[in-house]
Formats: sequence, structure tokens, C-alpha cells
Amino acid sequence: MLGVEVFKGAYQKLACRFAGLTSDVYLVPPSQMNERTDLLGAFKVEYDEKLYFNDDAADMENYGIEGAGGITINFLLAGKGRSAIFINENCLQEGEREDLIWLWRYNSLHHELMHALDFSKQKNFNTERRTMDLVGAEVFADYKTLLHLKSMSSNGFMKIALQSYASNAKVIGAKGGIRTEIYNRLVRKIGSNTIDHWATMKI
Ligand SMILES: [Zn+2]
Repeated sequence: MLGVEVFKGAYQKLACRFAGLTSDVYLVPPSQMNERTDLLGAFKVEYDEKLYFNDDAADMENYGIEGAGGITINFLLAGKGRSAIFINENCLQEGEREDLIWLWRYNSLHHELMHALDFSKQKNFNTERRTMDLVGAEVFADYKTLLHLKSMSSNGFMKIALQSYASNAKVIGAKGGIRTEIYNRLVRKIGSNTIDHWATMKI
């Protein structure tokens, strides 16, 4: 399938491009994408301290990683902040088309890389105080990923990736709680007309 090759190639290229930021990028079976799995341990990532960030303002109810496209774990190694990225091998239904699975691996990788970038720049993360702006971090990752996909969208496959990402953001944004807060802040940066257009454009 051509789509598989396109997204698989783009995934590998993207991982290479950001290898200076983190070379710890792993594909994780869906059964291990949960808070119970010690992902750093399972993938033998070397670290001194796993970092936990607090956001007192965030409504964390029903905000787990189960079924998520990916997760970024930040840690200290030899006094330096670093990130490891874990991408869900399949965040869609079991038996879903392989090209769509790769599309979501690609989109999720970009999203998680933007969390690692955000952490390295300490924009929405404050390692010293162990605090973060969770909504700000999610908006940063969504915003950067949407703009990236838009910049690539002269390629028909990337146009599909942009559409999938935008329509997913809308669906998740309608779920209430913190997810709606994220969507509302994202819309303030991009404009709901633009997201609506991306979500429904003709392919
Ligand atoms: Zn995220």
C-alpha cells in the first residue's frame, strides 16, 4: 500500500530530524499504553529521575493515556532534562487499515516531538518547580502539528493527515472538561473556520 510507505518513510525522516532533541522514540503495543506500564523501564531508557509535573489548574478527571496516540516522558539524566517518546502502535480499532495506522503513528510522533521541544525550551514546563501548564502544552503541540501538516499538504497523503488531525481535534474537543478547554484555546490561535475547513476539505 502506497500510503504505508509514505507515512512510514515520513515517520522515520521526522524521527531523524529531531534526533538531536531525543533519540528515544519507541513504538508501543496498545496493551502497554497505560499508566500501569513502566515504559522507561520496559524500553531500557537510562534515567536518574522521572519528572512529574503538577498543574493545579488542570481538571484531570478522565484524562488518562489509555488509547492515546502517544506519550512523552520527561526525565533527568546526569542533571540534564531529556524526553522519551512512546508512540502507540495502533490507537485505532484493531484490524484498522495499515495506512491509517501509519498516518496516526506519524501524526502522534509530531505531536509528541512538540512536547519534547516545549519541555526543552521550558515554555509550558518548569522543571525547577515541577509545574506545567497542561492546556498550554497540549495547545502548543496541536498548533505546531497542524501548521506542520498544513505546510506539507500539497502532498495528497499529508492533506489526509491534516484532515484527520483537524477532525480528531474537533471530536476530542467536544468531549468536555480539559479536552474542551484545550480545543477552545487552540481555536483562539488558529480560528474555528480554519479548523472546520481543514476537517472537512475535499481530498
Ligand atoms: Zn499531547
